[in-house]
Amino acid sequence: MTISENDDAQASRQQQLQRAIEGVHADIQKACSAVGRDASSVCLLAVSKTKPASDIAAAYQAGQRHFGENYVQEGVEKITQLAHLAGISWHFIGPLQSNKTKDVATHFDWMHSVERLKIAQRLHQQRPLDEAPLQILIQVNIDDEASKAGVSLSEIAPLAQQIQQLDRLCLRGLMAIPQAGASAEQQAQSFTRLADAFKQLQHSYSSVDTLSLGMSSDLAAAIEHGSTMVRIGTAIFGQRHA
Ligand SMILES: *Cc1c(COP(=O)(O)O)cnc(C)c1O
Repeated sequence: MTISENDDAQASRQQQLQRAIEGVHADIQKACSAVGRDASSVCLLAVSKTKPASDIAAAYQAGQRHFGENYVQEGVEKITQLAHLAGISWHFIGPLQSNKTKDVATHFDWMHSVERLKIAQRLHQQRPLDEAPLQILIQVNIDDEASKAGVSLSEIAPLAQQIQQLDRLCLRGLMAIPQAGASAEQQAQSFTRLADAFKQLQHSYSSVDTLSLGMSSDLAAAIEHGSTMVRIGTAIFGQRHA
């Protein structure tokens, strides 16, 4: 491609992403109206895993500020490339091995997938002192799936109490990845269990204000059950091929 063809491609990708983001905001608005919530109570997290830094820069130009990444190395590369974008916020949403905690502690703003104390302690020890505390969500395995990460409902309170003692971390709430292919009824039951656990946690800790629930396919149901942060990949950036 020549330089101007490249510019044209980037401009049309920018328009495409802008329309997709507007479409997701319209879906959030609609889901909120249906249950009498204010759309400003739901934060849109754009899940950019496997997508190039140029897509993130284009989404940023369209006003998007929060981005989610699943893989440490890939995320750190994009964060470094896009360090010039003021006010951008990076969320780590994937599984994390303890030997990779330092990269998350030094480069990300939020961590959605804390499920054991050891990981929390390492993130606390490795969070640079000149950064704000790392914003923490506890991942909950709401459907008790053997293959899925996250704590059970009864493990939330003890883990929250331990995280609360770590001053380089700020406990903000809960995150869940619901079972794929669940019936509407099963989904409603597990979302309700999570929403109840979230309310209990909010009663115990004033810093807790975030329920990270809802992806491209279940955004409306998640908002109906009190989600305050939806994690949207496909509906913004299109299918992932990697
Ligand atoms: C990939 C991913 C998403 C986004 O899923 P889409 O269906 O593409 O919207 C959200 N949350 C987590 C944890 C993910 O890994």
